[in-house]
Amino acid sequence: MNNSIESTDPPLSESVPTSANPIPDHARVAVLQQIGKPMAIQSYPLPRLQGSEVLVRIRCATICGSDLHSCFGRRPTPLPGVLGHEMLGQIADIGPAGAADYEGSSLQVGDRVTWSMVWSCGRCDFCRQGLRPKCLELKKFGHQTLDPANPFFGAMADYCWLPERTAIFRIPSEVPDRVVSPANCATATVAAIFRQIGECRGRSVVIQGAGMLGLVATAMAAAGGAGPVIAIDPDPRRSERTLQFGATQAINATSNVEEIQAQLQRLTDGRGADIVIELSGQPAAIELGIELLAIGGHYILAGSTFPSRAVQLSAEQIVRRWLRISGVYNYNPEDLRQALVFLAAHHQRFPFADLVSGSYPLEQVNEAFTHAENERPIRVAIVG
Ligand SMILES: [Zn+2]
Ligand SMILES: [Zn+2]
Repeated sequence: MNNSIESTDPPLSESVPTSANPIPDHARVAVLQQIGKPMAIQSYPLPRLQGSEVLVRIRCATICGSDLHSCFGRRPTPLPGVLGHEMLGQIADIGPAGAADYEGSSLQVGDRVTWSMVWSCGRCDFCRQGLRPKCLELKKFGHQTLDPANPFFGAMADYCWLPERTAIFRIPSEVPDRVVSPANCATATVAAIFRQIGECRGRSVVIQGAGMLGLVATAMAAAGGAGPVIAIDPDPRRSERTLQFGATQAINATSNVEEIQAQLQRLTDGRGADIVIELSGQPAAIELGIELLAIGGHYILAGSTFPSRAVQLSAEQIVRRWLRISGVYNYNPEDLRQALVFLAAHHQRFPFADLVSGSYPLEQVNEAFTHAENERPIRVAIVG
């Protein structure tokens, strides 16, 4: 079987419900019932839409690293559940009250859309403080316990149900499905990181970890005029790839600490990095990262999303060197908007389309997860 991804997306009209091709009564979801067991493809009745709810036919879903952590038991996940939170699709149906996108313009059946994987109420104290991922009513697509009355709340399915107040975005037509699919996890999270950083033009940036988030961070730093942009990863293939995404220099993280320090000092005229972005989540990498900062530097931690040992840091160094440390987890709807603007502007400059290395139908979801787990490509897609 040829799993190479097609160079073009299927035409939009293929998925639009018509009188000849109406919305079915039932549709499939891939249910993870038990860690270590294959997901089961099950059929459930599609929900009847109320108010401003939206039903989306999934066109493309990509498997995120956190889906693999959940599926293979490396982090807690609600069971049974439907995984998948990087996705896009085409609107199949809209509730009787009509629905609008995040910008406020009305949505239509057939629109190609993505949406915030973080559903937040917009009203609670955290939402009003700009901390939407901490909403008191938070729900995350692909992270909920399966509701048998409506299990369509994850990407590993034919359809996804979007409750009222989901932040929905139309996708610019020139950006291919496989480029956009990671936007509502990886790209939007990196946009939230850069919102924390503020202006990066002319500042030196080190990126630790060259997976999907690291490649996006490299590209965003380069596009924002940062320099030098230095990527560090223990896998030489991964660190080398950052050069295609705008890195000035790729450093192998298996080099000893002194050697990494020496390379960084050479590249930054002896100052160190103004900004270090940590995306590996490895305690040893964090202990190194703090050493790489220039005086007054800013360390942004975003990779530590799974349990690991405590990190040893010198509080004295943080104080004496005027260092700043921030954490970022998930994002606000505005970050997803920025992510889509970034991809529309730069998807031809940086080879995001090449990062999806396999394409499977939903009925082969278990093969797709096994391939992603064993081969560790940047992304594998499930296409509808
Ligand atoms: Zn994710
Ligand atoms: Zn809230």
